[in-house]
Amino acid sequence: MEAVVLVSFGVPENLQMRQVPDPSPGQDEVLLRVQACGVCFHDVINRRGDLPRTNVPAILGHEAAGQVIEVGSGVEGWSVGDRAATLQRLHCGDCRHCSGGRNSLCKEDTRFFGEEIPGGYADYMVAPVAGLGRVPQEVEWPVAATACCTSGTAVHVVRTRGRVQRGETVLITGASGGVGMQAVQLARHDGARVIAVTSSERKVDVLREAGAHEVVVSGDLDFSRQVRDLTGEGADVALEIVGSLTFEQSMRALAPGGRLVVVGNLKTQSVAINPGLVIVKELEIRGAYATTREELGQAFELFATGALRPWVSEVLPLSDAWRAHQRLEARDVTGRLVLTPDH
Ligand SMILES: [Zn+2]
Ligand SMILES: [Zn+2]
Repeated sequence: MEAVVLVSFGVPENLQMRQVPDPSPGQDEVLLRVQACGVCFHDVINRRGDLPRTNVPAILGHEAAGQVIEVGSGVEGWSVGDRAATLQRLHCGDCRHCSGGRNSLCKEDTRFFGEEIPGGYADYMVAPVAGLGRVPQEVEWPVAATACCTSGTAVHVVRTRGRVQRGETVLITGASGGVGMQAVQLARHDGARVIAVTSSERKVDVLREAGAHEVVVSGDLDFSRQVRDLTGEGADVALEIVGSLTFEQSMRALAPGGRLVVVGNLKTQSVAINPGLVIVKELEIRGAYATTREELGQAFELFATGALRPWVSEVLPLSDAWRAHQRLEARDVTGRLVLTPDH
């Protein structure tokens, strides 16, 4: 089969089309004919060599969708022809975290598509069924591929981890990206007042259309004062999609008792926290990681009712993976880019 292989860590041009052996499914795995694979900033971080569990040569891509075309031994509940999309990571299904519904915390099986398991930048991929969700018939492949990491993640962040309540004010950084656009829509749908932060004036209209009540343009990433001016006390919840670069500003923008939900870290670096601020404002800092099968199902339901509009901005041939990476790094993308193999 053909696949885009990351031949060595570094520049986008290291993503090269290659002939590789056809994969075949083992125990508890299926073979998917990949129909679409989203390109996520996580892939950029992975390509640069900043994720410790990936070894090159590697096939990236954790946002894949396709049909099951072969079923390995021991697989129950999946058959040839089923429509599937990958969850970002696997989980064991048995440990105390999995039993409690917090699959993201499972330590028994932490494999991630595109890292330890070859991903979806390929004609075909093998997927352990623990890492798959079902795709309804009416959902198109590019939307199916990106639903988990954008809309599913938004469900995880806004509802499961953020516990956003009607009437609360929600600040969202990196709001014009794939997760951000979905989080803006979902928080609005769930009754929150939404303040979106973006670095670019060009993205204001699209964020307002998505449902943001206020859009703060902050090229220098100094937005906490503007948020306090808009809200008085500050935001009740900050959804931190950018990570270290905006973390301190998001903390300062919180109202007393506010919660900071951290879901993205574009630059993998540390931040300084003033414990005094956390103490006197009784702030909560929560992480949010990956999407459960149930949350992916919620995302598909939100599409069906029109509450969420999936936003695939462009579909590119698989061989353009390197270009997609270049554009993502240049912040030239609103929404999601998706690759499709040429079967
Ligand atoms: Zn992703
Ligand atoms: Zn587990």
